[in-house]
Amino acid sequence: MITEDRLAMVAPCGIDCGICEMHSCEENSPLYNRLIERGIPKESLPCKGCRSIDGMCPVIKAKCETFICWAGRDISFCFECDEFPCIRLHPAADRAEILPHNMKVYNLCTIKKSGIEDFLSQSADIKLRYFKGKIHVGNGPGMQ
Ligand code: SF4
Ligand code: SF4
Repeated sequence: MITEDRLAMVAPCGIDCGICEMHSCEENSPLYNRLIERGIPKESLPCKGCRSIDGMCPVIKAKCETFICWAGRDISFCFECDEFPCIRLHPAADRAEILPHNMKVYNLCTIKKSGIEDFLSQSADIKLRYFKGKIHVGNGPGMQ
């Protein structure tokens, strides 16, 4: 059974804050130290997730423009928006090997198709395939 708190860790843009390094560093001191070395302010760690911190994502050190846009609408996720997919969710190669922005639209489509609970059962695997998978051209990424 997935708790309400865990469900609320999925950001409006589709990023799963529940498996973000900034969130999971609480019980991982080497990871915590690496994040501090990278300049993440101590007071932001562990991050409580986008919805809890009102879009003040410590990665961007400002209020997230996507969050601001979403907060003005009566929707839970960006896929419910008439403008979806808008430019804020556009894929980009810039820092794609370290940041999860290119996963947003796939995550949102999975939530739309299967529901948030089913998405959460797949979320860690989606992230692993994105960052560690091998692309099989024409057939998507796999772990082999
Ligand atoms: S708000 Fe940003 S830093 Fe915080 S858990 Fe979510 S993606 Fe990570
Ligand atoms: S315009 Fe874009 S960022 Fe804003 S709520 Fe709609 S899909 Fe999300």
